[in-house]
Amino acid sequence: MSTTPLHPETLAIRAGKETSDYQEHSQAMFLTSSFKSASAAEAAKLFSGEIPGYTYSRFTNPTVSAFQARLAALEGGERAVATASGMAAIHGLVQAFLSAGDHIVASQSLFGATVQLLGNILPRFGIEVTFVAATDLDAWRAAVQPNTKLFYLETPSNPLTEIIDIRAVADIAHACGALLAVDNCFCSPALQKPLSLGADLVVHSATKYIDGQGRVLGGAVVGSHELLEKLYLFVRSAGPTLSAFNAWVLLSGLETLFVRMERQCANALQLARWLETHPAIEKVYYPGLPSHPQHELAMRQQTAGGAVVSFIVKGGREAAWKLIDSTQLVSITANLGDVKTTITHPATTTHGRVAPEVREKAGIVEGLVRVAVGLEHPADVQADLARGLEG
Ligand SMILES: *Cc1c(COP(=O)(O)O)cnc(C)c1O
Repeated sequence: MSTTPLHPETLAIRAGKETSDYQEHSQAMFLTSSFKSASAAEAAKLFSGEIPGYTYSRFTNPTVSAFQARLAALEGGERAVATASGMAAIHGLVQAFLSAGDHIVASQSLFGATVQLLGNILPRFGIEVTFVAATDLDAWRAAVQPNTKLFYLETPSNPLTEIIDIRAVADIAHACGALLAVDNCFCSPALQKPLSLGADLVVHSATKYIDGQGRVLGGAVVGSHELLEKLYLFVRSAGPTLSAFNAWVLLSGLETLFVRMERQCANALQLARWLETHPAIEKVYYPGLPSHPQHELAMRQQTAGGAVVSFIVKGGREAAWKLIDSTQLVSITANLGDVKTTITHPATTTHGRVAPEVREKAGIVEGLVRVAVGLEHPADVQADLARGLEG
């Protein structure tokens, strides 16, 4: 291959492929739980790690390895470890890098299950978590304790699309000797590369934009060889491994990632601009709009605004539910990252279990609606929403 570095669009299609003796053009799917050795001596060397190779699919599998290599290339990391879901990746990360007595500083604007894991499950194992206001750098600094080992954030946040300055938080984390992990699910490596901004670890729910078509669950963590070896040893012993079938689906998802993201972001920007001028809308949250309070930071840190648009409909829950129930095309579901546009009411779904006062204070008001924009013609999505905003 040429010595000039390949563009990300090319890596998304070409990086990491493993070819068998049959010279198949598509990545082969290796549905096998174990791998044979030529001799007892070779098996011993494979198991001790003295020679590279495959032994058992809980450890690694060629299809999973191909996915890991391709995602690592796209994020600019040395290595990736894939997991059965995004939550398995986050849990694995915590297990690999923290012990009882350690402390995490995390953004309070996180995916719901991540809040449950960090806030309710980890304390049972002696790991303490302080949640801070996402965009307040002083709050991140003030939360540091002598036992702080990990900083954890998502940007843009869900559903209010707050942007956290990754470089600034990385500096705070490194000043106290902690690692920074960034959940890059909303942007994918097509829009944002946290490792290049100082993060130590990137976490993915591959279920979203990496698959891109709402088919399978998957997750991954990307970073240096040294850090990822710890996670690999956890995954091979604890077993939250990605299946070869799901890795195969995710590999082909990556092949179309850049074109999907480019078009979905363009569709989202068009929808956000229209919503901003609509008399029934009180406020639009979209990092690609100049009216977004962190538009400049977003455009510095990301190559586009993303595909998630949130907005407040005048008239509270009644108006928001009317809008959602008037749709005929877009899907009423809390999932995102699909080529199909989805609509959800965060206050009663994804954030329904958050105490109402906390929710309101965080800006997740009753009139808030979140749309994850897909690949349908934008005029059709706009017309579908317009129906419920009339009158
Ligand atoms: C969906 C999601 C997760 C969890 O991923 P799963 O694959 O559903 O386990 C984590 N973080 C973010 C931002 C998500 O949207």
